[in-house]
Amino acid sequence: MTETSHPVHHQDHLQWPFFEPQHIELANTLDAWASRQLAHPAQSPGDGSTRSHAHNVDDECRALVKALGRDGWLQHAVAGRAFGGASDAIDTRSICLIRETLARHNGLADFAFAMQGLGSGAISLAGSQVQKNAYLPRVAAGEAIAAFALSEPDAGSDVAAMQCSARVEGDYAILNGSKTWISNGGIADFYVVFARTNEGPGARGISAFIVDATAPGFSVSDRIHVIAPHPLGTLRFDNCRIALTQRIGGAGEGFKIAMRTLDVFRTSVAAAALGFARCALEQAILRATTRKMFQQTLADFQLTQAKLAQMATTIDSAALLTYRAAWQRDQGRSVTKAAAMAKLASTEGAQQVIDAAVQIWGGMGVVSDVPVERLYREIRALRIYEGATEVQQLIIARELLKEAGHVAMK
Ligand SMILES: Cc1cc2nc3c(=O)[nH]c(=O)nc-3n(C[C@H](O)[C@H](O)[C@H](O)COP(=O)(O)OP(=O)(O)OC[C@H]3O[C@@H](n4cnc5c(N)ncnc54)[C@H](O)[C@@H]3O)c2cc1C
Repeated sequence: MTETSHPVHHQDHLQWPFFEPQHIELANTLDAWASRQLAHPAQSPGDGSTRSHAHNVDDECRALVKALGRDGWLQHAVAGRAFGGASDAIDTRSICLIRETLARHNGLADFAFAMQGLGSGAISLAGSQVQKNAYLPRVAAGEAIAAFALSEPDAGSDVAAMQCSARVEGDYAILNGSKTWISNGGIADFYVVFARTNEGPGARGISAFIVDATAPGFSVSDRIHVIAPHPLGTLRFDNCRIALTQRIGGAGEGFKIAMRTLDVFRTSVAAAALGFARCALEQAILRATTRKMFQQTLADFQLTQAKLAQMATTIDSAALLTYRAAWQRDQGRSVTKAAAMAKLASTEGAQQVIDAAVQIWGGMGVVSDVPVERLYREIRALRIYEGATEVQQLIIARELLKEAGHVAMK
């Protein structure tokens, strides 16, 4: 809950031409559901209840996946009506609206939804019928938790430098190496793992595999604690043997599959940032209109009004770029540049909006677990994962220069 029924019009943008009637219905119904079902973990400032790993984030996440599955929201995270999906193709606008709405109410709920989609996205986009049957209905029902394992200790932004390998022996692939920063690492039932199979150099020699958490030779070697706690871990593969039927798509197609998955979910990171920013603006208005000082309220000062105006403008700019990218993908058009612009503008903008909200709250803004303090921690990683801001800048520039007929040097 946003702890207030303050009349900020979150849903005005639903009137924009990017949306169809079912999107408006979806956003409004989910908003009502989230208001009833999701309460932020700590309500009273300074009560010492900052959510930590001691407070069981794993259980909280499992419960959220179950609730999101039970009430049908996870149907939007997978593609194919025959496999429990809400529609036959992934609808980017639905995913974005769901993430924006959940993030506005509860960051961990957004995380739980997003990871079901990101973790199963490769199966939705490129899996066989057998794979889709085996995994997607359980993901959509909240019965199986998914994860996406691309990053490694020495291959983050430079994905193609990955070393985790998969060697084919008869009908099996034998995986060796490690993956790190894996969201849901430790609680996932299966992991979509990208590994080097050497059909070609760099990005052309990578394949994607589904690894069940019970596979022999698979283990979660470490759990990582971050500023906005969520399940996160390092994976190890020691001669981990899986059937070749677990490979998604053809040999050597892994990098392309990873990028196609990220094309959907990169835009949805922008949407999550938007939800955090909207919550921050709501909190800023709440505080500015009630905090008395110098015989008036904080909102009466023009310096405060300038801050609020900038926050609202940043939010609308981010929303326009986010839903432009989502709409563009749903039209079947290339989305690489638009998605990168959306992620860059929305995550960087949200950081500024949230920082301004903390400033408006004054000392109260930095007390553990007040809403703006929580948002301040929550937003930070979004500027780093699924392509850091600098990576998005490079993507945008590369596309621009390509359009101008110039192929940029690496
Ligand atoms: C909370 C969290 C959750 C995550 N979840 C997942 C997950 O579920 N699955 C998964 O596979 N990965 C996940 N990641 C990993 C994430 O995608 C990587 O952290 C990210 O790709 C950056 O890689 P890195 O951390 O190795 O940083 P590095 O690659 O070392 O980059 C460090 C910094 O260098 C800068 N930089 C990068 N490239 C350039 C460039 N070309 N020019 C100039 N500067 C540059 C950027 O500022 C970047 O932040 C997660 C990370 C975090 C923090």
